[in-house]
Amino acid sequence: MSEIVRDARRETQGTGSGRAIARPGLEWISAYTTAALGEISLDLRDNVNLWGAPPSALQVVRETSATELVSYPAVSATRLTETLAAHLGVRADEVVTGCGSDDLIDACFRAVAAPGERVAHAEPSFSMVPRFARLNGLEPVGVPLRADGAADIDGLLATGARIIYLCSPNNPTGTITPEAEIRRCIAEAPGIVVVDEAYAEFALTRDWRAEAPGMEKVLVLRTFSKAWGLAGLRVGVGVGSRALIDAVVRSRGPYKVNALADRAATVALEQDAEWMRETATAAVESRIRLEALVAGRRGVRRWPSRANFVFWQVEGDAVAIAARFAAQGIGVRAFRGLPGIGDAIRIGVAPWPMLERLAPVIAEVWP
Ligand SMILES: *Cc1c(COP(=O)(O)O)cnc(C)c1O
Repeated sequence: MSEIVRDARRETQGTGSGRAIARPGLEWISAYTTAALGEISLDLRDNVNLWGAPPSALQVVRETSATELVSYPAVSATRLTETLAAHLGVRADEVVTGCGSDDLIDACFRAVAAPGERVAHAEPSFSMVPRFARLNGLEPVGVPLRADGAADIDGLLATGARIIYLCSPNNPTGTITPEAEIRRCIAEAPGIVVVDEAYAEFALTRDWRAEAPGMEKVLVLRTFSKAWGLAGLRVGVGVGSRALIDAVVRSRGPYKVNALADRAATVALEQDAEWMRETATAAVESRIRLEALVAGRRGVRRWPSRANFVFWQVEGDAVAIAARFAAQGIGVRAFRGLPGIGDAIRIGVAPWPMLERLAPVIAEVWP
């Protein structure tokens, strides 16, 4: 058990004879932290856009006025909602925005499932999902990925869960679930399906979001944190049927997208789509070159990533391997003991001149 979990349990036990301060169940949830890695000069742990931020968004942030800071923003990011709806050809009340797509996963879980119900997800998948499930009194159920890296739709359906969470391309493996399989899942699911497309801009899969409102029980999520280069502003968006969007909006609460984020994400969408496409293309090129560095090496197996990161299943201790990168000032993510996979590392990509630094470390770790 980690320090953090132990501390959380001590807090929960309270001091006197009365009940604990935190509600029952919270003792198993630690505060989310990111590991400190010492002197990191190249951080490849978060899959953000290391080519930079959209120029138009940066301009908006630089030109902010006192009024914009003094006033409350729109309750539900009107500018961004309407612009995105127009881009996609859906109605504004079929779009929801949030403080990152994390916020929308959280709000959606709370909006559609009653405490005690289940959330089924692939294993491994986005680590925030079991966390948000538990925070909302729900039971997360992991279903191993198929050997080809796609979600096991039959396995997920067999759980009978109120919510099925699908992530494509999947974090941390980068693998996709074919659109036909996702559609079958939505058609056959007894409840709601959340499709997290945080990395769709890199995979160049077909954008089917305009059809989501007509499917009634699906919420399709995207984020401005990855390809759009705005993780610091915290903006996520979802598309779905009016009834589902309404439930998520009510469960989410107001003012989750701040005034600067609303305006910056909107101008980025309007003016920097081409910038986004160019940097996403460069990210895919960097990923292919990075993958080539381990081709044919023993002790490391590449998963077929379609995202802006690589996922390498490794022999030996992933934490020790990550430490060897860290010793050279490079931050990579280590995963230990993943079900059906074992140890693995995930490395986000960057402009190639930065990534070249990895070549000697790779040659040393997997000679
Ligand atoms: C990074 C990521 C997100 C985005 O989270 P934000 O809260 O929008 O920053 C969502 N889902 C997955 C799978 C991710 O990897």
